[in-house]
Amino acid sequence: MTAALQTHSLHKRYGSRVAVQSLDLDVAPGTVFGLVGPNGAGKTTTIRMLLDIIRPSSGSIRVLGDSPRVGGAALRRRIGYIPGELRLDGRMRGRTLLDFLTELSGPVAPGTIDTLAERLGLDLRRPVHTLSKGNKQKLGLIQAFMHRPPLLILDEPTSGLDPLVQREFLSMVAEARAAGQTVLLSSHVLSEIQQAADRVAVLASGRLVAEGTVEELRSASVRRVRAVVSALSEEAVRAALAALPTVTDVEVMPTAEALHVAATVTGEVDGALRALLGGHLIDLTVEEPDLEESLIDLYARTEGAR
Ligand code: ATP
Repeated sequence: MTAALQTHSLHKRYGSRVAVQSLDLDVAPGTVFGLVGPNGAGKTTTIRMLLDIIRPSSGSIRVLGDSPRVGGAALRRRIGYIPGELRLDGRMRGRTLLDFLTELSGPVAPGTIDTLAERLGLDLRRPVHTLSKGNKQKLGLIQAFMHRPPLLILDEPTSGLDPLVQREFLSMVAEARAAGQTVLLSSHVLSEIQQAADRVAVLASGRLVAEGTVEELRSASVRRVRAVVSALSEEAVRAALAALPTVTDVEVMPTAEALHVAATVTGEVDGALRALLGGHLIDLTVEEPDLEESLIDLYARTEGAR
């Protein structure tokens, strides 16, 4: 199946500064793909190259099977885009602006704009310059979604939106996916990616540092394991855990009946559990890390590896 989005060895330099390097991305059609990373990671630069707003220094891009460089207006009509820093101004009412944008985007099914405005809670009668940041963002979302494009490229789409509206936005993404549309979603809000994305690419300093399903990223991450065991000596537990490269930060607290053990496990918890199962396991909790913790850990490891 042809990828909805594909980049190969994508590079972008600004003078001596490298904004994106050796980036290979492959987004399957009909999926939601998350692009996450800290400030300056290269998310916006990547997105702008996908849209031919800026040109790569080297490497290749295919968007819906076309090169963005030659796809022109016909390709852009098949994409719904919301930029990271949406600037909307002017005395035009929201509805007038959207009607105008319809001429560029191609046909919008009757009633779609009203339905989206109602879902997001936006008054389309208000002049654009009087709208708050969040309400301007809603206008941006409506223009991205309204013509039901095969591909949605959404750069930090929920910035300025309150939690209820964010939830509505997530429903819109889920519906787009169900309708076979592909969504590229960049975000700092990792919980949003966790809920919405099929796959996630993590960028740091312009490079891809991890890619996988939300589940895979989580399983490569750090968990705190806490156990209460009896019939094992403190020394035996410490020695067994110390022998495991996956285990750090071991704490063992003996009480009259048992040992309270806590350890940080990176990746599989199998080794740590086997070490504890040498005794009698009374209680066990494995704290599920959120993606945020996993990512912070990944950044730290890639930065450390340099
Ligand atoms: P944020 O979440 O803060 O928007 P980002 O992941 O989108 O970050 P980019 O905006 O793509 O990151 O920036 C990547 C790097 O490229 C940064 O170091 C940035 O300073 C640099 N950069 C981006 N645009 C330019 C430009 N026009 N000229 C010079 N450097 C730039």
